[in-house]
Amino acid sequence: AVGELRLLLLENISEEAVQTFKSHGFQVDHFKKAWSEDELVEKISVYHAIGIRSKTKITERVLQHAPKLLTIGCFCIGTNQVDLVAAARAGIPVFNSPFSNSRSVAELVVAEIIALARQLVDRAGEMRQGNWNKVSKGCWEIRGKTLGIVGYGHIGTQLSVLAEAFGLRVLYYDVVNIMPLGSAQQVNTLQTLLSQSDFVTLHVPELPETVNMISTTELAQMKRGAYLLNNARGRVVDIPALIAALKSGHLSGCAIDVFPSEPGANSEGAFNDQLNSWSSALRSLPNVILTPHIGGSTEEAQRMIGQEVSTSLTRYLLFGSTPGAVNFPEVDLRAISDDQTSFIRQVNEILSDHNVEKQFSDSKGDLAYLLADISDVSEADIRDLHDRLHKTRANIVT
Ligand code: NAD
Repeated sequence: AVGELRLLLLENISEEAVQTFKSHGFQVDHFKKAWSEDELVEKISVYHAIGIRSKTKITERVLQHAPKLLTIGCFCIGTNQVDLVAAARAGIPVFNSPFSNSRSVAELVVAEIIALARQLVDRAGEMRQGNWNKVSKGCWEIRGKTLGIVGYGHIGTQLSVLAEAFGLRVLYYDVVNIMPLGSAQQVNTLQTLLSQSDFVTLHVPELPETVNMISTTELAQMKRGAYLLNNARGRVVDIPALIAALKSGHLSGCAIDVFPSEPGANSEGAFNDQLNSWSSALRSLPNVILTPHIGGSTEEAQRMIGQEVSTSLTRYLLFGSTPGAVNFPEVDLRAISDDQTSFIRQVNEILSDHNVEKQFSDSKGDLAYLLADISDVSEADIRDLHDRLHKTRANIVT
């Protein structure tokens, strides 16, 4: 029964999520902090579901001590804090929230484009020091300039729409062929994008092929006086090469929200040379906007993450539906009635004598649908299957 299911929520997951779970009748224990591996090993055995953010690590050892665990919810974008393979082997689907903060990132990029074009952060900093420095040299409108988006996914596409509303011309480069939104144009090579854009903004994931994707060669391919924005992942940009391009005046500025190494927690002085050999150089250059990985950090994004992941976990716990699971086949079982379930069971009993390589099933209204790929069957087997399946209410296509 639902009331017997116990959920553990760590890392101060939003109140909306807690209320969603409680409204379905689940027992919920929620805590502000992350738990260590040892704490989890000691206490996880009573829980049927766990909700975490990025700091709690769900290792294979934790999973071995979680006999009742049915599902894991990552209330964030990334899922590399969970051993996804071990979870899948244990039959535990893992859910996340892949695009609930895309809009927040896109809006920050728009702000940064204007801030870079107007040297806004430098002027504001000077005023805070009591200095009046009214300049127009090197300050631009963004209307009519070209924005190059590298990675046209959730964030890149949102940004594309917002940027055109400001009168920017949008080019994008992606490894996949993606339908352009509005008047944006896909270009075939990164070099084409770099050589034509006044602003280059990165929205690719960190992959072996995107690490140092922007280094000395690529920076040299950018237009003189252009700006670089990185709100993707820190290792996508070669920071020493970027510093050189800024120092030489080839670039007019940059906005960096993500770094190759980032402090684990908020604290004064955490972003200093002990952590990053390059941070003081970056901090001393003009028109360089540095932010502490806040691209997706808004109240709206947190609320949406809470809603999205709690809905996925609830659907799985109530119906066994897996759409959105990152380590599991996606099957939506909500619509299957008892009648259809018993039909699918009968068909599965008949198929169970055979080696089923792959199987998909779904239903709509009164109709259930099952597609099975069966290997090593003879003509006689197929006739036999036909006969037996026909005795159920199945229409069969082989
Ligand atoms: P997404 O998966 O929707 O889109 C990524 C796009 O990059 C895809 O279209 C993909 O085809 C493309 N791509 C992959 N490899 C490429 C390559 N080598 N060259 C060109 N294109 C390539 O991802 P998203 O949700 O738009 O997020 C993009 C990045 O932003 C992610 O790395 C994510 O970690 C980061 N992010 C940062 C923040 C923040 O707080 N700053 C918040 C959310 C996401």
